[in-house]
Amino acid sequence: MKLQTKYPIIWRKNNFGIKIFCSIPNIATGIVVNAKENLIVVDPGDGILRDLNNDYTTEDVLSISDIFITHGHHDHVGGVWSLLTYFRVMRRKMNLNIYYPKGCIEIESIYNAFRKVYSNSISYKIFLKEISDNKTIIRKDIKVKPFKVLHKEILSDNKSKKVVPSLGYNFVYDGMTICYGGDTAYCDSLVKAAKNADLAILEAGSTSDLEDDDMHMSIEVAKSIGKSAKEFYLVHVPE
Ligand SMILES: [Zn+2]
Repeated sequence: MKLQTKYPIIWRKNNFGIKIFCSIPNIATGIVVNAKENLIVVDPGDGILRDLNNDYTTEDVLSISDIFITHGHHDHVGGVWSLLTYFRVMRRKMNLNIYYPKGCIEIESIYNAFRKVYSNSISYKIFLKEISDNKTIIRKDIKVKPFKVLHKEILSDNKSKKVVPSLGYNFVYDGMTICYGGDTAYCDSLVKAAKNADLAILEAGSTSDLEDDDMHMSIEVAKSIGKSAKEFYLVHVPE
């Protein structure tokens, strides 16, 4: 078991790896999956542009063609505007795909605002790819298998909750699987996705003493799922 709240978390096997720059509830997430020289950005929260530019050349950052979003909460999408605008300023030419769960209005709103503000000066094409099923997506030799998870948010009465469109992703490359559950309560789809994965990245964001927390998992619950994978890290742990 690796309980770690110090970031970054880096895991690598052969040519496949993941770096979690951070995953702090209500602050920011930022993740890069890499297979050989190919980079996929996952949940670009605030600070992602700084973190990518610390680790990679400008050319590498501009070569990123795919962003995967688990859900629209600010700590998972806060850096999307920065990335879109950076690519514009750098006169990027390559297309950009943004994959996100069906119904995630945050991504559509950021995209629409970006199009509106910079309508005459966007140098590249953006394709919004809404995910509504579990169909595998293949990007640069990496298979990405989305799965629905269970996440909620509290409404303005501070009591009632609504379900947030949310996905986890299994990234498969060269026979290895990295499972990232995003933000989720315990759910069967996550249990299935994490089982036998080479690495499972599991949130343990619950601040509730109740066992039936339907927004996040407790450390104990996340660990119980993590043990079914070959290795696991707990992230999104309240500090
Ligand atoms: Zn969330």
